[in-house]
Amino acid sequence: MTIAAADLHSTELPTISVEGRVARLREILGQQSLDALVVSASSNIRWLSGFTGSSGLLVVTCDDMVLITDGRYTDQAAEQLAAVGAPARLEITATAQCEIVQAITASASTVGLEADHITWSTHQRYANEWFADRQLTPTVGLIEKLRRRKDDAEIARIQRAASIADASLNAVRSRLNDSPTESEFAGELDAMMRKLGASGNSFETIVASGPNGAKPHARPGDRRLQPGDLVVLDFGCVVDGYCSDMTRTVAIGDIDHTQVRMLKVVTAANAAGLAAVRAGVAGSEVDAAARVVLADAGWSEAFSHGTGHGVGLDIHEAPRLGATSADILEYGDVVTVEPGVYLPAHGGVRIEDLVVVTKDGCRVLSHTTKSPTP
Ligand code: ZN
Ligand code: ZN
Repeated sequence: MTIAAADLHSTELPTISVEGRVARLREILGQQSLDALVVSASSNIRWLSGFTGSSGLLVVTCDDMVLITDGRYTDQAAEQLAAVGAPARLEITATAQCEIVQAITASASTVGLEADHITWSTHQRYANEWFADRQLTPTVGLIEKLRRRKDDAEIARIQRAASIADASLNAVRSRLNDSPTESEFAGELDAMMRKLGASGNSFETIVASGPNGAKPHARPGDRRLQPGDLVVLDFGCVVDGYCSDMTRTVAIGDIDHTQVRMLKVVTAANAAGLAAVRAGVAGSEVDAAARVVLADAGWSEAFSHGTGHGVGLDIHEAPRLGATSADILEYGDVVTVEPGVYLPAHGGVRIEDLVVVTKDGCRVLSHTTKSPTP
């Protein structure tokens, strides 16, 4: 742990460069006959400009990119745009957003909005006031699609987050034998991730013991870990905006035959899913590869969620690895493979790895042992 912890702090991460990203977006805007796009999603604004403030709009036209935010962010926005080399102008205003956006988009006749990221009331305001004489077009997933292929600097951050999660569980793992409550153990894991350099959690840590483990998204509570429990540990952290995600299941004391079999079958399903990951393969094929192992064990009904999802600036992003997913994996996708079996009488088992999709397979970023021994 000491060596890993030292590395986690001392190795410099490569600089993020957003150069080239807006050009790829403009190609798509051209294909969709859009003269401008109003970017509202904070992850999308960050990916294009480096800006991390909680309030801002990014407007992209064929020859301009402008970040509009307010006076709280004047210095931060300028520094962040410069740090990633964003080819963007900065406009600071608390009250004149409408006029500024109208000026930027003066020659645009079709303006795209991010349909998944604006409210009904914002849409009404845009339609009636900001863009009353323009054609507004809903867009879905334009930038999210571009965000799928992670570059080396992005993968370095996700790898760092995954390594911090590995080192953190390693550091507090033996505490599982001391009968902590779920929430005590979650707190120790979270504190260790902070200590090792994470800026926060990528989602609320799941420590689900005994019957709680049969609920895939249980929140940690007052229940104490006890002999006979399977304990699902699903957690991740954030490094410079990028998330990690991993699940391991440990067994406390002696467990029954069904629980032993659950661990064995889910481990095999996880391995089968990982073996199916490769650029060009459908997300649904990876799901099927994992699912068939569970079905062969008689547990198709006990696996109640998709096999995986993309991870990046958001903890859940494209692509999806599920039975109904139409997504085809591409190299540079970062995805999870996380089959599980949930049986109320025995608890839950889920094993989740985070991987980078490569041309002929995948590179696994999560390195914590899959052994159920605490
Ligand atoms: Zn997870
Ligand atoms: Zn996940």
